[in-house]
Amino acid sequence: MNTPGLPAYPAPLAPWACDPRHTRGRRVPEAPAPPRNEHQRDRDRIVHSTAFRRLVYKTQVFINHEGDLFRTRLTHSLEVAQLGRSAARALQLNEDLVEAIALAHDLGHTPFGHAGQDALHDCMREHGGFEHNLQSLRVVDALEARYPGFDGLNLSFETREGILKHCSARNAARLVQAEPQGPGRRFVEGTQPSLEAQLVNLADAMAYNAHDIDDGVRSGLITLAQLADVPLFAHWKQQVLADHPQLASQPGRRLLFETLRRMLSAQMADLIAATSEAVRSHAPADADAVRRLPPLARFSAGLQAQITELQRFLFSALYRHPQVMHTTAQARTALVELFAAYRADPGAMPADFATASDGARAVADYIAGMTDRYALREHFRLTGRRVFAD
Ligand code: MG
Repeated sequence: MNTPGLPAYPAPLAPWACDPRHTRGRRVPEAPAPPRNEHQRDRDRIVHSTAFRRLVYKTQVFINHEGDLFRTRLTHSLEVAQLGRSAARALQLNEDLVEAIALAHDLGHTPFGHAGQDALHDCMREHGGFEHNLQSLRVVDALEARYPGFDGLNLSFETREGILKHCSARNAARLVQAEPQGPGRRFVEGTQPSLEAQLVNLADAMAYNAHDIDDGVRSGLITLAQLADVPLFAHWKQQVLADHPQLASQPGRRLLFETLRRMLSAQMADLIAATSEAVRSHAPADADAVRRLPPLARFSAGLQAQITELQRFLFSALYRHPQVMHTTAQARTALVELFAAYRADPGAMPADFATASDGARAVADYIAGMTDRYALREHFRLTGRRVFAD
């Protein structure tokens, strides 16, 4: 049977896509590994890494012990990969590269989400600070220790470019000094990453906007009634109720799920249409031309305004909810105390970290790699105090 309207599979790459045959390559040259292309190979290395497995016990918004059904960094990363690949396939971009970037984009996240990152940044203030995007790059460039010939995973330039989503000017200068043509360069030059990397950034936001509503409602911290004031959500909820009026009087989560599903589909269709239009009007000759243009992956202005409003709601109603603030304050204290304990006694860490030449950075690397529950166990072992005991 032929399904009308579906493109050939796999579709040919658009001229402005990152063609894996023209990769800028790896820092340590390696022989090709057919039949896999270089970006499939990156994806495989990421999936088999230790840092990837740890994502299952790292928090997104909620602390890992609060419930088994909340998103973790792992399920979040899988959702980002799913959304990014859908868009990439429709836009004839490099789906393998999108998948690799999406699966790696949060590898550098600390335990306890943003609270953990803020705590480590404070602890590292005198030692160059701590940035989670930079840490993700550090994980794949240096910290994974699995190959005989090099540190890290030795990923291709395009995957590393996508992983380094943000970088401060000071850290960019430092990266460029060590690797003049590396992924830090665009932050000095003010250019963009590949379209594939741009897509992952938008897929990231689509994923957490939707799943934070789901998790927020599940936790009871936000309600469907509050969401009636958020136009993007309210619009699709009305559509669902028009099609399925019985859901209004039924308890249960089908109304929420169907609303989120339609919201995501609408964003995906808008993203594909607006990005196609931007590519058409700028007509980049190839992937390098994309990097010199303004960002081309985008939502329409109307939808972007609705998304911004939704994010404002999530910020004030969920991320700044007193209960979330209370838990994250405790998590923050735990990491600050853990940092101090390892600084006072580096021997409490495994030998690789205890003997590193840059002591503060080694402590940050060690703590950043921890899962939520491992950090709590270590904190108890070293301080004798239990966090989240109440
Ligand atoms: Mg993310």
